[in-house]
Amino acid sequence: MLRLKHSHTRPKLEASHPLAGKRVYIPVMAEGMSEVMAAIFRSMRIEAGITPPSNKRTLELGGKFTSGDECYPAKITVGDFLRAIEQPGFDPKRAVFLLPTTDGPCRFGQYVPFLKRVLREIGYADIPILSPTDKNGYSDFGDGATRFVRTGWRAVVASDTLRRALLKTRPYETTPGTADGAFQLSLDDLCETIESSCANAACQLQALVECITRARDRFRNVPAHYDAQFPLIGVVGEIFCRLNSFSNEDLIRRLEKQGAEISLSHVGEWVGYSNEVESQRLHLSRQIFSLEMLSEKLRSHVQHKDEHDLIAPFVEDFEGYEEPEVHEVIRLAEPYLPARGVIGEMLVSVGTAAYLAKHGADGIIDISPFTCMNGIVSEAIYPKLSQDLGGIPIRSFYFDGTQSDLDRDLGIYLELARGYRERKPYPRRYPSYFNPRPATEPGNAGQGSALPPKDRAHDIPEYATPSVAWAADSRQVIEES
Ligand code: SF4
Repeated sequence: MLRLKHSHTRPKLEASHPLAGKRVYIPVMAEGMSEVMAAIFRSMRIEAGITPPSNKRTLELGGKFTSGDECYPAKITVGDFLRAIEQPGFDPKRAVFLLPTTDGPCRFGQYVPFLKRVLREIGYADIPILSPTDKNGYSDFGDGATRFVRTGWRAVVASDTLRRALLKTRPYETTPGTADGAFQLSLDDLCETIESSCANAACQLQALVECITRARDRFRNVPAHYDAQFPLIGVVGEIFCRLNSFSNEDLIRRLEKQGAEISLSHVGEWVGYSNEVESQRLHLSRQIFSLEMLSEKLRSHVQHKDEHDLIAPFVEDFEGYEEPEVHEVIRLAEPYLPARGVIGEMLVSVGTAAYLAKHGADGIIDISPFTCMNGIVSEAIYPKLSQDLGGIPIRSFYFDGTQSDLDRDLGIYLELARGYRERKPYPRRYPSYFNPRPATEPGNAGQGSALPPKDRAHDIPEYATPSVAWAADSRQVIEES
Protein backbone atom coordinates (compact mmCIF):
# COMPACT_ATOMS: atom_id res chain seq x y z
CA MET A 1 0.00 0.00 0.00
CA LEU A 2 1.22 3.46 -0.84
CA ARG A 3 2.24 5.53 2.13
CA LEU A 4 0.88 9.04 2.36
CA LYS A 5 2.95 11.74 0.69
CA HIS A 6 2.59 15.21 2.08
CA SER A 7 4.49 18.35 2.79
CA HIS A 8 3.27 18.97 6.35
CA THR A 9 5.63 18.60 9.27
CA ARG A 10 5.45 17.15 12.76
CA PRO A 11 4.78 19.66 15.54
CA LYS A 12 7.76 21.16 17.33
CA LEU A 13 8.26 21.37 21.10
CA GLU A 14 9.40 24.72 22.47
CA ALA A 15 12.20 24.59 25.04
CA SER A 16 9.90 26.48 27.43
CA HIS A 17 7.21 23.76 27.25
CA PRO A 18 6.52 22.31 30.74
CA LEU A 19 7.23 18.80 29.45
CA ALA A 20 10.39 19.60 27.48
CA GLY A 21 13.24 17.38 28.67
CA LYS A 22 10.89 15.20 30.76
CA ARG A 23 10.01 11.55 30.42
CA VAL A 24 6.33 10.71 30.86
CA TYR A 25 5.45 7.33 32.42
CA ILE A 26 2.05 5.94 31.43
CA PRO A 27 0.43 3.17 33.48
CA VAL A 28 -1.00 0.19 31.61
CA MET A 29 -4.77 -0.06 31.34
CA ALA A 30 -6.16 -1.71 28.21
CA GLU A 31 -4.05 -3.82 25.88
CA GLY A 32 -2.66 -1.38 23.31
CA MET A 33 -4.17 1.76 24.82
CA SER A 34 -1.16 2.85 26.89
CA GLU A 35 1.23 2.19 23.99
CA VAL A 36 -0.71 4.51 21.69
CA MET A 37 -0.91 7.16 24.41
CA ALA A 38 2.89 7.06 24.67
CA ALA A 39 3.07 7.42 20.88
CA ILE A 40 0.94 10.59 21.07
CA PHE A 41 3.42 12.16 23.49
CA ARG A 42 6.30 11.16 21.25
CA SER A 43 4.50 12.65 18.25
CA MET A 44 4.66 15.94 20.19
CA ARG A 45 8.39 15.29 20.73
CA ILE A 46 7.90 14.50 24.40
CA GLU A 47 9.71 11.38 25.61
CA ALA A 48 7.19 8.82 26.89
CA GLY A 49 6.88 5.13 27.67
CA ILE A 50 4.70 2.75 29.64
CA THR A 51 5.36 1.50 33.18
CA PRO A 52 6.90 -2.00 33.49
CA PRO A 53 4.41 -4.87 33.02
CA SER A 54 2.44 -5.59 36.19
CA ASN A 55 3.57 -8.61 38.20
CA LYS A 56 3.70 -9.90 41.78
CA ARG A 57 6.02 -7.06 42.73
CA THR A 58 3.31 -4.61 41.60
CA LEU A 59 0.98 -6.06 44.22
CA GLU A 60 3.71 -6.15 46.88
CA LEU A 61 4.57 -2.48 46.35
CA GLY A 62 0.95 -1.38 46.00
CA GLY A 63 0.02 -3.45 49.06
CA LYS A 64 2.60 -1.64 51.22
CA PHE A 65 0.63 1.55 50.97
CA THR A 66 -2.94 0.31 50.90
CA SER A 67 -5.16 -0.97 53.69
CA GLY A 68 -7.56 -2.97 51.51
CA ASP A 69 -10.21 -0.25 51.48
CA GLU A 70 -8.83 1.35 48.32
CA CYS A 71 -9.93 0.38 44.84
CA TYR A 72 -7.92 -2.51 43.38
CA PRO A 73 -7.00 -0.48 40.24
CA ALA A 74 -5.46 2.16 42.56
CA LYS A 75 -3.29 -0.49 44.19
CA ILE A 76 -2.12 -1.78 40.78
CA THR A 77 -1.50 1.65 39.29
CA VAL A 78 0.47 2.88 42.30
CA GLY A 79 2.37 -0.43 42.40
CA ASP A 80 3.30 -0.01 38.73
CA PHE A 81 4.59 3.53 39.28
CA LEU A 82 6.67 2.29 42.20
CA ARG A 83 8.05 -0.46 39.98
CA ALA A 84 9.07 2.21 37.47
CA ILE A 85 10.99 3.97 40.25
CA GLU A 86 12.81 0.69 40.99
CA GLN A 87 14.02 0.28 37.41
CA PRO A 88 17.73 0.87 36.75
CA GLY A 89 18.34 4.29 35.22
CA PHE A 90 15.14 5.83 36.58
CA ASP A 91 15.74 9.57 36.86
CA PRO A 92 13.30 11.28 39.26
CA LYS A 93 14.36 14.71 38.01
CA ARG A 94 13.09 13.91 34.53
CA ALA A 95 10.13 11.69 35.45
CA VAL A 96 6.48 12.72 35.11
CA PHE A 97 3.71 10.26 36.02
CA LEU A 98 0.55 10.38 33.94
CA LEU A 99 -2.59 9.68 35.95
CA PRO A 100 -5.96 10.94 34.70
CA THR A 101 -8.49 12.17 37.21
CA THR A 102 -12.12 13.16 37.46
CA ASP A 103 -14.53 14.79 39.85
CA GLY A 104 -17.12 12.16 38.93
CA PRO A 105 -19.26 10.00 41.14
CA CYS A 106 -16.79 7.41 42.48
CA ARG A 107 -13.39 7.00 44.10
CA PHE A 108 -11.39 7.51 40.92
CA GLY A 109 -10.91 11.14 41.91
CA GLN A 110 -8.92 9.93 44.94
CA TYR A 111 -6.20 8.20 42.90
CA VAL A 112 -4.09 11.32 42.33
CA PRO A 113 -4.11 12.48 45.99
CA PHE A 114 -3.31 8.88 46.98
CA LEU A 115 -0.34 8.66 44.60
CA LYS A 116 0.91 12.07 45.78
CA ARG A 117 0.78 10.87 49.38
CA VAL A 118 2.71 7.70 48.57
CA LEU A 119 5.38 9.62 46.64
CA ARG A 120 5.75 12.00 49.58
CA GLU A 121 6.16 9.09 52.00
CA ILE A 122 8.95 7.50 49.97
CA GLY A 123 10.82 10.74 49.33
CA TYR A 124 9.79 11.35 45.72
CA ALA A 125 7.39 14.22 46.32
CA ASP A 126 9.00 16.21 43.49
CA ILE A 127 7.83 13.87 40.74
CA PRO A 128 5.04 15.78 38.99
CA ILE A 129 1.74 14.05 38.28
CA LEU A 130 0.19 14.90 34.95
CA SER A 131 -3.62 14.76 35.00
CA PRO A 132 -4.89 16.10 31.69
CA THR A 133 -8.35 17.55 32.09
CA ASP A 134 -10.68 19.81 30.14
CA LYS A 135 -11.24 21.79 33.35
CA ASN A 136 -8.00 23.69 32.66
CA GLY A 137 -8.21 23.44 28.86
CA TYR A 138 -5.45 20.77 28.88
CA SER A 139 -3.00 23.58 29.70
CA ASP A 140 -0.29 21.02 30.55
CA PHE A 141 0.19 20.65 26.80
CA GLY A 142 0.54 24.33 26.03
CA ASP A 143 0.03 24.94 22.29
CA GLY A 144 -0.36 21.22 21.69
CA ALA A 145 -3.61 20.91 23.69
CA THR A 146 -5.92 20.67 20.67
CA ARG A 147 -3.69 18.15 18.95
CA PHE A 148 -3.42 16.08 22.12
CA VAL A 149 -7.20 15.90 22.57
CA ARG A 150 -8.00 15.11 18.95
CA THR A 151 -5.19 12.61 18.45
CA GLY A 152 -6.10 11.10 21.82
CA TRP A 153 -9.62 10.35 20.61
CA ARG A 154 -8.36 8.93 17.31
CA ALA A 155 -5.91 6.74 19.23
CA VAL A 156 -8.75 5.45 21.43
CA VAL A 157 -10.87 4.55 18.41
CA ALA A 158 -7.95 2.96 16.55
CA SER A 159 -6.74 0.86 19.47
CA ASP A 160 -10.32 -0.19 20.31
CA THR A 161 -10.72 -1.29 16.69
CA LEU A 162 -7.59 -3.45 16.85
CA ARG A 163 -8.83 -5.07 20.08
CA ARG A 164 -12.26 -5.71 18.54
CA ALA A 165 -10.61 -7.37 15.55
CA LEU A 166 -8.44 -9.48 17.86
CA LEU A 167 -11.39 -10.69 19.95
CA LYS A 168 -13.53 -11.62 16.96
CA THR A 169 -10.63 -13.55 15.35
CA ARG A 170 -8.59 -15.20 18.11
CA PRO A 171 -11.13 -17.81 19.27
CA TYR A 172 -11.30 -19.18 15.71
CA GLU A 173 -7.63 -19.13 14.67
CA THR A 174 -6.35 -22.49 13.50
CA THR A 175 -2.71 -21.74 14.35
CA PRO A 176 -2.34 -20.55 17.94
CA GLY A 177 -0.73 -17.14 18.27
CA THR A 178 -1.47 -15.86 14.78
CA ALA A 179 -4.24 -13.47 15.83
CA ASP A 180 -2.04 -12.10 18.63
CA GLY A 181 0.73 -11.73 16.04
CA ALA A 182 -1.56 -9.74 13.74
CA PHE A 183 -2.58 -7.59 16.70
CA GLN A 184 1.00 -6.88 17.77
CA LEU A 185 2.14 -5.97 14.25
CA SER A 186 -0.89 -3.72 13.84
CA LEU A 187 -0.30 -2.06 17.21
CA ASP A 188 3.35 -1.38 16.36
CA ASP A 189 2.23 0.03 13.01
CA LEU A 190 -0.37 2.20 14.74
CA CYS A 191 2.14 3.58 17.26
CA GLU A 192 4.61 4.36 14.48
CA THR A 193 1.88 6.02 12.42
CA ILE A 194 0.78 8.20 15.34
CA GLU A 195 4.34 9.06 16.29
CA SER A 196 5.32 10.12 12.79
CA SER A 197 2.01 11.76 11.86
CA CYS A 198 2.19 15.38 10.84
CA ALA A 199 0.65 18.45 12.42
CA ASN A 200 -2.21 18.63 9.91
CA ALA A 201 -5.36 16.92 11.24
CA ALA A 202 -6.69 15.77 7.84
CA CYS A 203 -3.32 14.38 6.87
CA GLN A 204 -3.04 12.51 10.17
CA LEU A 205 -6.49 11.01 9.71
CA GLN A 206 -5.61 9.76 6.24
CA ALA A 207 -2.44 8.10 7.57
CA LEU A 208 -4.44 6.45 10.36
CA VAL A 209 -7.11 5.15 7.99
CA GLU A 210 -4.39 3.58 5.85
CA CYS A 211 -2.88 2.05 8.98
CA ILE A 212 -6.26 0.60 10.04
CA THR A 213 -6.73 -0.80 6.53
CA ARG A 214 -3.38 -2.61 6.80
CA ALA A 215 -4.51 -4.00 10.17
CA ARG A 216 -7.77 -5.24 8.66
CA ASP A 217 -5.85 -7.10 5.97
CA ARG A 218 -3.58 -8.74 8.55
CA PHE A 219 -6.58 -10.00 10.50
CA ARG A 220 -8.29 -11.23 7.33
CA ASN A 221 -5.17 -13.25 6.61
CA VAL A 222 -5.22 -15.07 9.95
CA PRO A 223 -6.11 -18.70 9.15
CA ALA A 224 -9.36 -19.39 10.97
CA HIS A 225 -12.46 -21.57 11.10
CA TYR A 226 -15.37 -19.45 12.20
CA ASP A 227 -17.60 -21.78 14.14
CA ALA A 228 -21.10 -20.62 15.03
CA GLN A 229 -21.21 -23.11 17.90
CA PHE A 230 -19.05 -20.91 20.14
CA PRO A 231 -21.14 -19.12 22.75
CA LEU A 232 -20.81 -15.34 22.67
CA ILE A 233 -20.19 -13.82 26.10
CA GLY A 234 -20.56 -10.06 26.61
CA VAL A 235 -18.07 -8.61 29.09
CA VAL A 236 -19.01 -5.36 30.82
CA GLY A 237 -18.07 -3.75 34.12
CA GLU A 238 -15.52 -1.39 35.64
CA ILE A 239 -13.33 0.04 32.89
CA PHE A 240 -9.88 -0.70 34.35
CA CYS A 241 -10.56 -4.16 35.66
CA ARG A 242 -12.41 -5.37 32.57
CA LEU A 243 -9.71 -4.09 30.19
CA ASN A 244 -6.58 -4.80 32.22
CA SER A 245 -5.70 -8.47 31.85
CA PHE A 246 -3.43 -8.48 34.92
CA SER A 247 -6.16 -7.25 37.24
CA ASN A 248 -8.79 -9.66 35.85
CA GLU A 249 -6.38 -12.60 35.77
CA ASP A 250 -6.69 -12.90 32.01
CA LEU A 251 -10.37 -13.75 32.24
CA ILE A 252 -10.92 -13.18 28.53
CA ARG A 253 -8.24 -15.61 27.37
CA ARG A 254 -9.47 -18.14 29.94
CA LEU A 255 -12.98 -17.92 28.47
CA GLU A 256 -11.60 -18.26 24.95
CA LYS A 257 -9.60 -21.34 26.00
CA GLN A 258 -12.85 -22.88 27.17
CA GLY A 259 -14.43 -22.31 23.75
CA ALA A 260 -16.17 -18.94 24.04
CA GLU A 261 -16.05 -15.76 21.99
CA ILE A 262 -16.02 -12.44 23.84
CA SER A 263 -17.70 -9.14 23.09
CA LEU A 264 -15.90 -6.60 25.27
CA SER A 265 -16.92 -3.05 26.09
CA HIS A 266 -14.00 -0.88 24.98
CA VAL A 267 -12.53 2.49 26.03
CA GLY A 268 -14.51 4.61 23.54
CA GLU A 269 -17.75 3.64 25.27
CA TRP A 270 -16.69 5.61 28.35
CA VAL A 271 -15.65 8.68 26.32
CA GLY A 272 -19.05 8.71 24.59
CA TYR A 273 -20.83 8.37 27.91
CA SER A 274 -18.77 11.17 29.50
CA ASN A 275 -19.74 13.50 26.64
CA GLU A 276 -23.37 12.62 27.21
CA VAL A 277 -23.10 13.30 30.95
CA GLU A 278 -21.60 16.71 30.20
CA SER A 279 -24.42 17.49 27.79
CA GLN A 280 -27.01 16.45 30.40
CA ARG A 281 -25.31 18.65 33.00
CA LEU A 282 -25.59 21.67 30.70
CA HIS A 283 -29.24 20.88 30.00
CA LEU A 284 -30.06 20.60 33.68
CA SER A 285 -28.28 23.85 34.51
CA ARG A 286 -30.21 25.56 31.68
CA GLN A 287 -27.13 26.22 29.57
CA ILE A 288 -28.60 24.86 26.36
CA PHE A 289 -27.58 27.92 24.36
CA SER A 290 -24.22 28.47 26.05
CA LEU A 291 -20.74 28.48 24.55
CA GLU A 292 -20.01 25.39 26.64
CA MET A 293 -22.88 23.53 25.01
CA LEU A 294 -21.76 24.66 21.56
CA SER A 295 -18.26 23.39 22.20
CA GLU A 296 -19.62 20.09 23.56
CA LYS A 297 -21.76 19.60 20.44
CA LEU A 298 -18.85 20.47 18.17
CA ARG A 299 -16.56 18.05 19.99
CA SER A 300 -19.11 15.24 19.74
CA HIS A 301 -19.64 15.97 16.05
CA VAL A 302 -15.91 15.91 15.28
CA GLN A 303 -15.41 12.74 17.32
CA HIS A 304 -18.26 10.99 15.51
CA LYS A 305 -16.83 11.89 12.14
CA ASP A 306 -13.33 10.71 13.08
CA GLU A 307 -14.75 7.48 14.47
CA HIS A 308 -16.79 6.86 11.33
CA ASP A 309 -13.75 7.39 9.07
CA LEU A 310 -11.44 5.25 11.20
CA ILE A 311 -13.78 2.27 11.50
CA ALA A 312 -14.83 2.37 7.82
CA PRO A 313 -12.20 -0.18 6.66
CA PHE A 314 -13.66 -2.72 9.12
CA VAL A 315 -17.34 -2.15 8.41
CA GLU A 316 -17.87 -5.45 6.59
CA ASP A 317 -15.73 -7.38 9.06
CA PHE A 318 -17.73 -6.01 11.98
CA GLU A 319 -21.16 -6.84 10.56
CA GLY A 320 -23.10 -8.35 13.41
CA TYR A 321 -20.60 -6.79 15.86
CA GLU A 322 -22.01 -3.26 15.77
CA GLU A 323 -21.65 -1.37 19.04
CA PRO A 324 -24.53 0.59 20.53
CA GLU A 325 -24.75 4.37 20.45
CA VAL A 326 -24.58 5.89 23.92
CA HIS A 327 -28.22 7.00 23.67
CA GLU A 328 -29.24 3.41 23.08
CA VAL A 329 -27.26 2.26 26.13
CA ILE A 330 -28.89 4.92 28.30
CA ARG A 331 -32.36 4.06 26.95
CA LEU A 332 -31.91 0.37 27.72
CA ALA A 333 -30.68 1.11 31.25
CA GLU A 334 -33.51 3.56 31.92
CA PRO A 335 -35.99 1.05 33.47
CA TYR A 336 -33.37 0.07 36.05
CA LEU A 337 -31.19 3.18 36.47
CA PRO A 338 -32.78 6.43 35.24
CA ALA A 339 -30.06 8.54 33.59
CA ARG A 340 -31.37 11.74 35.21
CA GLY A 341 -30.77 10.32 38.66
CA VAL A 342 -27.72 8.10 38.19
CA ILE A 343 -24.27 8.79 36.82
CA GLY A 344 -21.54 6.22 36.51
CA GLU A 345 -20.29 3.02 34.99
CA MET A 346 -23.13 1.00 36.52
CA LEU A 347 -25.51 2.65 34.07
CA VAL A 348 -23.25 1.85 31.11
CA SER A 349 -22.76 -1.74 32.29
CA VAL A 350 -26.48 -2.37 32.70
CA GLY A 351 -27.43 -0.69 29.38
CA THR A 352 -24.70 -2.51 27.45
CA ALA A 353 -25.61 -5.84 29.06
CA ALA A 354 -29.22 -5.31 27.91
CA TYR A 355 -28.05 -4.39 24.39
CA LEU A 356 -25.86 -7.49 24.13
CA ALA A 357 -28.62 -9.75 25.43
CA LYS A 358 -31.03 -8.36 22.84
CA HIS A 359 -28.47 -8.91 20.10
CA GLY A 360 -27.98 -12.60 20.71
CA ALA A 361 -25.26 -12.86 23.36
CA ASP A 362 -25.36 -16.16 25.24
CA GLY A 363 -24.25 -14.73 28.55
CA ILE A 364 -22.99 -11.60 30.28
CA ILE A 365 -20.07 -11.30 32.67
CA ASP A 366 -19.52 -8.19 34.75
CA ILE A 367 -15.92 -7.65 35.86
CA SER A 368 -15.39 -5.36 38.82
CA PRO A 369 -12.79 -4.73 41.48
CA PHE A 370 -13.73 -6.02 44.93
CA THR A 371 -15.78 -3.35 46.80
CA CYS A 372 -16.39 -1.29 43.64
CA MET A 373 -19.66 0.51 44.14
CA ASN A 374 -20.48 0.40 40.42
CA GLY A 375 -20.14 -3.37 40.40
CA ILE A 376 -22.22 -3.77 43.55
CA VAL A 377 -25.11 -1.68 42.17
CA SER A 378 -25.02 -3.48 38.80
CA GLU A 379 -25.00 -6.87 40.49
CA ALA A 380 -28.16 -5.97 42.39
CA ILE A 381 -29.91 -5.16 39.10
CA TYR A 382 -28.81 -8.14 37.03
CA PRO A 383 -31.35 -10.70 38.33
CA LYS A 384 -34.20 -8.44 37.21
CA LEU A 385 -32.47 -7.69 33.91
CA SER A 386 -31.98 -11.39 33.27
CA GLN A 387 -35.60 -12.11 34.10
CA ASP A 388 -36.74 -9.39 31.67
CA LEU A 389 -34.49 -10.67 28.88
CA GLY A 390 -35.30 -14.33 28.53
CA GLY A 391 -33.24 -15.59 31.48
CA ILE A 392 -29.79 -14.82 30.06
CA PRO A 393 -27.15 -15.87 32.62
CA ILE A 394 -25.40 -12.83 34.09
CA ARG A 395 -22.61 -13.25 36.57
CA SER A 396 -20.43 -10.73 38.40
CA PHE A 397 -16.78 -11.55 38.99
CA TYR A 398 -14.92 -9.46 41.56
CA PHE A 399 -11.14 -9.18 41.64
CA ASP A 400 -8.67 -8.18 44.33
CA GLY A 401 -5.69 -10.37 43.43
CA THR A 402 -6.84 -13.33 45.51
CA GLN A 403 -8.95 -15.36 43.07
CA SER A 404 -9.18 -19.06 43.94
CA ASP A 405 -10.23 -21.22 40.98
CA LEU A 406 -11.29 -18.93 38.18
CA ASP A 407 -11.19 -21.62 35.46
CA ARG A 408 -13.59 -23.80 37.43
CA ASP A 409 -16.00 -20.89 37.98
CA LEU A 410 -15.85 -19.88 34.33
CA GLY A 411 -16.43 -23.47 33.23
CA ILE A 412 -19.58 -23.69 35.35
CA TYR A 413 -20.75 -20.36 34.03
CA LEU A 414 -20.17 -21.38 30.40
CA GLU A 415 -22.35 -24.45 30.92
CA LEU A 416 -25.18 -22.12 31.90
CA ALA A 417 -24.49 -19.98 28.84
CA ARG A 418 -24.54 -23.03 26.54
CA GLY A 419 -27.85 -24.12 28.06
CA TYR A 420 -29.34 -20.67 27.53
CA ARG A 421 -28.05 -20.67 23.96
CA GLU A 422 -30.47 -23.47 23.08
CA ARG A 423 -33.52 -21.51 24.17
CA LYS A 424 -32.60 -17.84 23.89
CA PRO A 425 -35.28 -15.60 22.41
CA TYR A 426 -32.86 -13.21 20.68
CA PRO A 427 -30.95 -14.54 17.65
CA ARG A 428 -27.41 -13.45 16.92
CA ARG A 429 -26.53 -11.93 13.54
CA TYR A 430 -23.46 -13.48 11.98
CA PRO A 431 -21.33 -12.07 9.18
CA SER A 432 -21.07 -14.30 6.12
CA TYR A 433 -17.64 -15.67 7.05
CA PHE A 434 -19.35 -17.64 9.83
CA ASN A 435 -21.14 -20.86 9.12
CA PRO A 436 -24.20 -20.97 11.37
CA ARG A 437 -25.02 -24.64 10.69
CA PRO A 438 -25.06 -26.81 13.84
CA ALA A 439 -21.93 -28.94 14.18
CA THR A 440 -24.04 -32.10 13.94
CA GLU A 441 -25.73 -31.10 10.70
CA PRO A 442 -25.28 -33.66 7.92
CA GLY A 443 -22.30 -32.71 5.81
CA ASN A 444 -20.57 -30.94 8.63
CA ALA A 445 -19.44 -34.23 10.22
CA GLY A 446 -19.39 -32.75 13.69
CA GLN A 447 -16.27 -30.77 12.87
CA GLY A 448 -17.75 -27.35 13.32
CA SER A 449 -17.81 -25.15 10.28
CA ALA A 450 -15.03 -24.82 7.75
CA LEU A 451 -14.95 -21.98 5.29
CA PRO A 452 -14.51 -22.70 1.62
CA PRO A 453 -10.79 -22.49 0.80
CA LYS A 454 -11.26 -19.45 -1.40
CA ASP A 455 -12.52 -17.48 1.57
CA ARG A 456 -9.36 -17.75 3.63
CA ALA A 457 -5.64 -17.45 3.04
CA HIS A 458 -4.36 -20.45 4.98
CA ASP A 459 -0.79 -20.23 3.86
CA ILE A 460 0.15 -16.66 4.50
CA PRO A 461 3.66 -16.77 5.91
CA GLU A 462 3.95 -13.12 6.87
CA TYR A 463 1.09 -11.40 8.62
CA ALA A 464 2.32 -7.95 7.70
CA THR A 465 1.71 -8.72 4.02
CA PRO A 466 -1.58 -7.07 3.17
CA SER A 467 -2.59 -9.49 0.43
CA VAL A 468 -6.33 -9.70 0.78
CA ALA A 469 -7.48 -13.20 -0.06
CA TRP A 470 -10.92 -12.75 1.35
CA ALA A 471 -14.06 -13.00 -0.72
CA ALA A 472 -15.27 -9.60 0.38
CA ASP A 473 -17.86 -9.36 -2.39
CA SER A 474 -19.76 -12.39 -1.13
CA ARG A 475 -20.24 -11.07 2.37
CA GLN A 476 -23.71 -10.76 3.78
CA VAL A 477 -25.21 -10.99 7.20
CA ILE A 478 -26.90 -14.26 8.09
CA GLU A 479 -29.63 -14.52 10.67
CA GLU A 480 -29.13 -17.31 13.18
CA SER A 481 -31.98 -19.76 12.88
S1 SF4 B 1 -15.33 2.42 39.34
FE1 SF4 B 1 -15.09 1.21 41.22
S2 SF4 B 1 -12.97 0.51 41.24
FE2 SF4 B 1 -13.12 2.10 39.69
S3 SF4 B 1 -12.49 3.96 40.80
FE3 SF4 B 1 -14.73 3.85 40.93
S4 SF4 B 1 -15.18 2.77 42.84
FE4 SF4 B 1 -13.02 2.43 42.33
